[in-house]
Amino acid sequence: MRRGTPSEMTESHADQRLHGAEDRIRRFLEREQPGTPCLVIDLPTVVERFRALRAALPGVGIFYAVKANPTREVVEVLAAEGCCFDVASPNEIDLCLAEGAPPEAVSYSNPIKKAADIAYAHRLGVRLFVSDSEQDVRTIAEHAPGARVMLRILVESKGSTYPFGKKFGCAPDMAVDLLRLAGELGLEPYGVAFHAGSQQLDPTGWDAAIADAAEVTAKLRAEGVALSVVNLGGGLPAGYLEQPPPLAEYAAAMTDAVRRTFGEHAPSVMIEPGRALVAESGVIRSSVVLVARKSYSDERRWVFLDIGRYGGLAETEGEAIAYPLRTTRDGGETGPVVLAGPTCDADDVLYQHTRYDLPLDLRAGDHVDLLRAGAYTASYSSVAFNGFPPLATYCVR
Ligand SMILES: *Cc1c(COP(=O)(O)O)cnc(C)c1O
Repeated sequence: MRRGTPSEMTESHADQRLHGAEDRIRRFLEREQPGTPCLVIDLPTVVERFRALRAALPGVGIFYAVKANPTREVVEVLAAEGCCFDVASPNEIDLCLAEGAPPEAVSYSNPIKKAADIAYAHRLGVRLFVSDSEQDVRTIAEHAPGARVMLRILVESKGSTYPFGKKFGCAPDMAVDLLRLAGELGLEPYGVAFHAGSQQLDPTGWDAAIADAAEVTAKLRAEGVALSVVNLGGGLPAGYLEQPPPLAEYAAAMTDAVRRTFGEHAPSVMIEPGRALVAESGVIRSSVVLVARKSYSDERRWVFLDIGRYGGLAETEGEAIAYPLRTTRDGGETGPVVLAGPTCDADDVLYQHTRYDLPLDLRAGDHVDLLRAGAYTASYSSVAFNGFPPLATYCVR
């Protein structure tokens, strides 16, 4: 990973944008003094990220992956911008429609779904589905007759912080057969979909999957089945402790790969960003519960926060995502810490390998803010593990 190379300007604009959001959030926290832990989302940042993505990828359909942050206001401001939505369940469909998205703007892209849920989506007007198995294609044909179907292919996700493994997608040759079958069953064979892994740090990380999608598309075209789209899924990254390459490099790499592999028959392109739209909009405010030492010889203090793995910091598993931190005592001398959550679960340790230094005078009651925490936090918090309530979310306009 490196700092954005092309221009210093881009970086300083990004920094200014983040400071604007973080200042608005800080003012909200000072004014309202909400109980901790809580997540504060800066809605102007969500809108700004959507517009930046639309500008970087003109003509590309942007479907926000609702699971990244299903806060009502987030969906509302994105729907008002004309964003489309990638949903996984009836509740997510209800949420998007209630916040103003038309049903044509909703893609039901979970390949694992019940017949009753497909029928429910169809009844509400959803006509776009993702599938990866014969049984699911047949269930869609029965309960959502005439709908558009994208087939998800299995891909390797090199360069991704969160590879998707083998749970989703089928082999490309099977996808060819299932798209053909969809057509025979009266559905519209619509395109090929994939997910190249979340927090993809390599702008060319989509290339291999795009080539596979182009091959599936070409095979079907040779049989007279014309697909309309290629769905590049999610994976666009956010900046945490380390900065990924700038968005422009991703846009150029994706556009080049589609042009190179699909040639003159390039279909329209859609993407399903989650993290890239919401991560930078959020700050989690937590409080220090306890600062402790485990021995006289270990220099590291243990800092226990009132938020942990089960309160919304699921992505600290394996220390994959390292949030930048800010404390109310910043400015003085610092020393190394281990950060942990408040529950009685031994896995509820946030960072013991990633180096964090916090103020030496940090003590119980001080605030520790986790920055860029708008994605995959509130939506991952448990109902009440050990009696700790789920993460409260506030929005700043
Ligand atoms: C979670 C998910 C996304 C969003 O992924 P990000 O890495 O957050 O962009 C997109 N598409 C599908 C099918 C998903 O499951």
